[in-house]
Amino acid sequence: LPVVAVVGRPNVGKSTLVNRILGRRAAVVEDVPGVTRDRVAYEASWQGRRFTLVDTGGWDPDATGMALRIAEQAQVAAELADVVLFVVDATVGVTDADEAVGSVLRRSGKPVLLVANKADNQQVELEATALWSLGLGEPYPISALHGRGTGDLLDAMLDALPTPPPQEAGAPRGPRRVALVGRPNVGKSSLLNRMAGEERVLVDPMPGTTRDPVDELIELGGKTYRFVDTAGIRRRDRELKGADFYAAMRTRSALERSEAAVVLIDASEPLTEQDLRIISLVAESGRAMVLAFNKWDLLDEERRYYLEKEIDRKLVRTPWAIRVNISAKTGRHVEKLGPAIDRALESWGTRIPTARLNQFIGDQVRATPPPVRGGKQPKILFVTQASIEPPTFVFFTTGFLEETYRRFLERRIREEFGFVGSPIHMVMKIRE
Ligand code: GDP
Repeated sequence: LPVVAVVGRPNVGKSTLVNRILGRRAAVVEDVPGVTRDRVAYEASWQGRRFTLVDTGGWDPDATGMALRIAEQAQVAAELADVVLFVVDATVGVTDADEAVGSVLRRSGKPVLLVANKADNQQVELEATALWSLGLGEPYPISALHGRGTGDLLDAMLDALPTPPPQEAGAPRGPRRVALVGRPNVGKSSLLNRMAGEERVLVDPMPGTTRDPVDELIELGGKTYRFVDTAGIRRRDRELKGADFYAAMRTRSALERSEAAVVLIDASEPLTEQDLRIISLVAESGRAMVLAFNKWDLLDEERRYYLEKEIDRKLVRTPWAIRVNISAKTGRHVEKLGPAIDRALESWGTRIPTARLNQFIGDQVRATPPPVRGGKQPKILFVTQASIEPPTFVFFTTGFLEETYRRFLERRIREEFGFVGSPIHMVMKIRE
């Protein structure tokens, strides 16, 4: 959803406006600057168009130093919003703080609607023309309290929103692209043969690629997947000189062309450095990941026990990868690869609504505040999911968050929203 942010110095009526737009009296409104509010983002709609409404007044519960933070908040708002509603008190006129916010917003290049609030009568409405001096165009005189002029303001806001992208839902996107990777001898070629059976369907390189990889369409559980660069796996060039080098190159190029990776591991032997390197490579590439433990037919009770220990000890960085235990030789559980890939790709493409995300993170932070650093309590002002594939979350904070705390948040996000099989990127933007 597009994001609309409401900014302005304390007491100009931001929360009243937010309530007016939401059509209810949910947010706490008091005539005291710096009142703490529960939430900062809401789902809202006008004329059937939905958007996320961000109330920047709720960002900093500290009353002290609040005035100094407004320009900063405006900066953050301008970064994350598609449209900014800049609220000024028309009965007061332009203050220094308004000037500061105005200059930040002018420089941002984002569409800004200048809201002249508290224009309860014609007299104030006339005075509102003085706000032209902010250089943000025509002021919209409104009374958030009585509802006067808010309809026109919201119409203008809709006009300023970016046009929604053409409906792509339902458009054929072709089979999902999967890389099959793993060190030599783990059974990649055997697995391909098992999955493809008699009928191998070879497909041309994708348009725009200069290399000559050959992909294969493979059916798993009734669905077709495009396994990329399988020619290299079948060529069995490990006897060639420099084979290791080529194998590494192939892994990278296959990852580049894929959406998900199946990392094949020989479960009958201890995990090697090379296995772990390939797993890291996949995680770093930002692809969805399925770990397939092959040669399961060779495992006895004892090896299974040690394998679990090894996994706990060595795969601590990627506990989110989906695991499947298979045997390319007997065909055991090979059909489970399809649903595992689907599940991982689903997480990979998941987008969490901004309001839900902020509500959830807010709850976490209240229950378990970030550790104090240098005598200061870092605050999380706002969180937004900037992108999918892989899911990338941007945290706007007032200070550095410890690695352990970031991992805690990642874990909680994974649990709450059901992210499995996909890496999650967390980006921290510190406003100090
Ligand atoms: P690649 O280098 O990863 O392509 O590995 P290959 O497919 O050439 O397999 C390496 C060796 O492992 C061959 O001798 C295969 O027969 C054997 N192999 C592959 N998968 C299995 C399996 O599930 N069980 C057993 N017992 N052996 C397997």
